[in-house]
Amino acid sequence: MKIPFNKPYFTNNEINLMIEAAKAGRISGNGIFTKKCHSFFEKRYGFRKALLTNSCTDALEMAAVLTRFNPGDEVICPSFTFVSTASAFALHGAKIIFADSRPDQPNIDENKIEELITPRTKAIIVVHYSGIACEMDVIMKIAEKYDLLVIEDAALSIDSYYHKKALGSIGDMAGFSFHETKNIITGEGGLLAVNNPALHERAEIIWEKGTNRAAFQRGDVKKYEWVDVGASYLPSEMMGAALIAQLRELKKIQKRRTSIWHQYLDKLKPMEEEGYIQLPMVPKYATINGSMFYFLTRNNTERNNLIRFLYKKGVHAVFHYLPLHISPYYKDKHDGRPLPNAIRYSDTIIRLPFFFELTNEEIEYVVEKIREFYLKKAP
Ligand SMILES: *Cc1c(COP(=O)(O)O)cnc(C)c1O
Repeated sequence: MKIPFNKPYFTNNEINLMIEAAKAGRISGNGIFTKKCHSFFEKRYGFRKALLTNSCTDALEMAAVLTRFNPGDEVICPSFTFVSTASAFALHGAKIIFADSRPDQPNIDENKIEELITPRTKAIIVVHYSGIACEMDVIMKIAEKYDLLVIEDAALSIDSYYHKKALGSIGDMAGFSFHETKNIITGEGGLLAVNNPALHERAEIIWEKGTNRAAFQRGDVKKYEWVDVGASYLPSEMMGAALIAQLRELKKIQKRRTSIWHQYLDKLKPMEEEGYIQLPMVPKYATINGSMFYFLTRNNTERNNLIRFLYKKGVHAVFHYLPLHISPYYKDKHDGRPLPNAIRYSDTIIRLPFFFELTNEEIEYVVEKIREFYLKKAP
């Protein structure tokens, strides 16, 4: 048996809708399909304003431009995350103050945020690791107290909730990804949710190269002009069309992916009870959305050996983020605080094959091989 880590799922309707978009004769951005996507997200998840982007990285860059950084301004960001979470802000002038993860969970430790705030802090960036929510009430309260923006890196968080609120609808802004490794895909692709109404107008301007073209298209202004800085963050209608095809199957995709997640969890429970592994902790306020399945091994050597063992058995399992505070780019810029939880998650997390078309037999095989690895090595 050979089981890849990821396999992009296509609904077969992407191509039809892309042809439809092309035949309509207008495939640049902010057309019918793009607008359909925007209203889908606004209605379904309660985002105040949705804007498609070419990636989550682009969405986070837009969030950085919208935050406005003066030299020396800071953002607080977890170290255990993907590069873009920090680099999008560093690119636009922010100094990154890295925070540690929770002891029981890879998300940012909400109890360690306040001590990192200085007069230069402008924003808190949170990442809902594997689509499992951060403790948002606590984080939003801190932000309110110090007048900071909250930006959710919700790249992995589509269709997941904190209490009854959709992830991406809570912070001032949120970025989503439709990269081919995520639940809903367009190859490359993303979305910025702008929930703070004070940022709506400027968000559209930054999205459209620093012009007020979106307002012009609506008939709100007579001509479109250069009114601010910006870039070309809006994707073509091709992406919007492909995304509509995916969104039509959102329910089906989510049903299968959450089922895969629960199957892994149930089947691996005995391994946890025997003390071999530690399964993901899902806080009471959070849901899971089947964006990935991970667990913790007892140490780094064991994790690497397990990945190698599985690979030999045809199972492609992988590790995850390297801590950003000790990355080649940032290690000399970091203030030297140890962030032990970020390092521990980086050392011990393993992610199992996870994709829509993964079969129950394949899940059973993966789990069987994990069992084989531990039982063979049991003392
Ligand atoms: C995938 C991912 C990103 C980057 O998304 P792109 O669309 O590839 O830019 C950022 N943050 C997290 C947490 C991710 O998982």
